[in-house]
Amino acid sequence: MNTFDSIIIGAGPAGLKAADTLANFNRKVLLIDTDAKIGGKLNLWDRLFPDFSSSQELLNQLSKNINNENVTLKLNTNIISIKNNDNHWMATDSNGNTFYATTMIIATGFDVFDAHRKEEYGYGIYKNVITSVDLEKILSGEVSIETPSKVAFIQCVGSRDEKVGNNFCSKNCCICAVKQTIELKEKFPLTDIYCFYMDLRMFGQSYEELYRRSQQDYGVNFVRGRVSEISPTMDNKVVLKAEDTLLSRPLKLTADLVVLMVGMEASKGTKILGNQLNINNTDGFVKSTDRYLSDSETTLKGLFVTGTSKRQMSIPETMNDAVNAAVIVNNFLNTL
Ligand code: SF4
Repeated sequence: MNTFDSIIIGAGPAGLKAADTLANFNRKVLLIDTDAKIGGKLNLWDRLFPDFSSSQELLNQLSKNINNENVTLKLNTNIISIKNNDNHWMATDSNGNTFYATTMIIATGFDVFDAHRKEEYGYGIYKNVITSVDLEKILSGEVSIETPSKVAFIQCVGSRDEKVGNNFCSKNCCICAVKQTIELKEKFPLTDIYCFYMDLRMFGQSYEELYRRSQQDYGVNFVRGRVSEISPTMDNKVVLKAEDTLLSRPLKLTADLVVLMVGMEASKGTKILGNQLNINNTDGFVKSTDRYLSDSETTLKGLFVTGTSKRQMSIPETMNDAVNAAVIVNNFLNTL
């Protein structure tokens, strides 16, 4: 009963898509997550870039797709140990249950950077300093605020930052900021928005166009400069000190709301499993065998990896990567 063709650890977008694809190959899959619900970090976003589609609708579709007799879903299940015995994988949960499979896919995803670690921005101290994840609740209407007169976005929070030990670019926060500035302008048309950036990385299809629209149609101001400090004012606003690096001059801005664009780190689960199996890289993500030729495989036979447990990816990239991993796993099973 506890034996499967594949165990997938993580029921976020990658795990869901991989499970759906394997089930359609008529493979028996066990999909496990520590959370009480499926979807992982997709649950944190209201609308997705670059087309403002609903994350809930996507999640509903993914959920419908795994409603398949070949998929067994186990939520609230914390895997504490993974072992390989005679080419079979065993995963044991915190209640002592052990599950067996010929293959295993790690889809443990990413964690959002904890903004408390950037003390100079005052997250958790000043109530008008929030993160991009907090902003989604305002944009969805779950949390209401008064119309702000000025809002400042700060990019690269917890990414490209030696001080916090993350030299990497999180890849998605530039375009996410553009999406959020547009949504905020639609909600509060009279609000002035300033976006402080180091570089703008619009790498994906339609991203550059959206960035242009945010300036031309919505009047969002992009300022090249790093904010060094945020301090409170007597009237419950905050003052940002920055340097405009294009004009080479210091700058001060008083804002009612500051949005920290938090980056993507390897998740706690990814780090724990990666360490246990000795398959992670220096940033804590799981290392695939070969980025070009075998990007779904790990150095351990029968153990595969997909999605943001490998590196930062957008949701469409994650989906494609999950399909690829499922095809590779199915091919592997065919060879046995
Ligand atoms: S995507 Fe943009 S905001 Fe995010 S880390 Fe890279 S440069 Fe910074």
